[in-house]
Amino acid sequence: MLALHSESQCRFWVEDLFSCRFGRRNIFKKMSKGKTLIIGASGQIGIELVLKLREQRGVENVVASDIREAQSPDLLEGPFEIVDTLDKQQIYSVINKHGIEEVYQLAALLSATGEKFPEKAWDLNMNGLFHVLEAAKDGLIKRIFWPSSIAVFGPNTPRIDTPQFTIMEPTSVYGISKLAGERWCQYYFNRYGVDVRSIRYPGLIGYKSEPGGGTTDYAVDIFYHAIQSGKYKCFLSEKTMLPMMMMDDAIRATIGIMEAPSENVKIRGSYNLAGMSFTPAELALEIKKHIPNFQISYESDFRQALADSWPNSIDDTEARQDWGWKAEYDTTKLVETMVIEVGKKIAVGT
Ligand code: NAD
Repeated sequence: MLALHSESQCRFWVEDLFSCRFGRRNIFKKMSKGKTLIIGASGQIGIELVLKLREQRGVENVVASDIREAQSPDLLEGPFEIVDTLDKQQIYSVINKHGIEEVYQLAALLSATGEKFPEKAWDLNMNGLFHVLEAAKDGLIKRIFWPSSIAVFGPNTPRIDTPQFTIMEPTSVYGISKLAGERWCQYYFNRYGVDVRSIRYPGLIGYKSEPGGGTTDYAVDIFYHAIQSGKYKCFLSEKTMLPMMMMDDAIRATIGIMEAPSENVKIRGSYNLAGMSFTPAELALEIKKHIPNFQISYESDFRQALADSWPNSIDDTEARQDWGWKAEYDTTKLVETMVIEVGKKIAVGT
């Protein structure tokens, strides 16, 4: 009789049988094959995270998923599933089909897009998180990674070396959803023992994927414009200092916190994480060392108010102490890398 069913149907059949008899939690711990699922894998972070995890764990062991088709052919070198993170059954089905042990939940509406669609941002950012927290609570998966952001801070937060524990009061729907998400993560850990881990990413800068509608996107766009036209009009003012991080460092931190022994992860809301800080004017000066004729102009838009409510720099003492975090990129190394790698991409027309 079992031979007539697909693998996923069999899993559900077995799940139903055993959850009646022995409870879900135990049987799924035994059935787990230890694979990883990335939700939101076609985004700026997801593409790079999938590639790194597949390199480390084997292509077949990392399942990429997104609501849209794979945005990079690299994603299709291993398993890829279309998953709407707002559809809990779809998530459970993919977890069962592939024997998933840990989930990286990256699907979200980012800060700038969130201000255009506040209800959608709240719905996606909160319910996407709830569905994976529930999957862990139901015993289907063992570990969750869910990213928070420096957007959890607000205008009353100390702006220089912003500490881990401080005044929050975010002003954007994105920041409100991330702060609420942090509190839910801590709640599911305290109440149900869910092993959820999180870091507050600063603005992320990389060359393998496009940014997805955040306030710090200028720090990626600027390289494409500098190389292609020698000019860039920045949507933040020249003195807007924000915490930033090279994508390689962010991916190392993400995998690092997930691989840390559980007892070392003492904060189950979200950890501060620092890389570097710079203003658009400072970034432009660094780019001019490589492209001497580069010109930057400034015309602030609605994103200025978001940036003005966020920290200038971050104190990440707890992440360093608890699970050994240390950034490798400073602004000079970041600019060197971006100029070379974006230059190569433009040269081959990708
Ligand atoms: P992104 O916008 O580039 O990617 C998000 C992905 O989620 C997209 O591929 C999108 O198609 C997918 N998605 C949207 N709705 C979905 C749905 N209903 N079901 C499944 N997938 C869906 O974002 P990113 O920059 O890669 O960010 C990933 C995470 O990191 C987000 O939680 C974001 O808040 C957080 N973060 C990012 C930054 C940054 O600078 N990029 C900074 C701080 C925090």
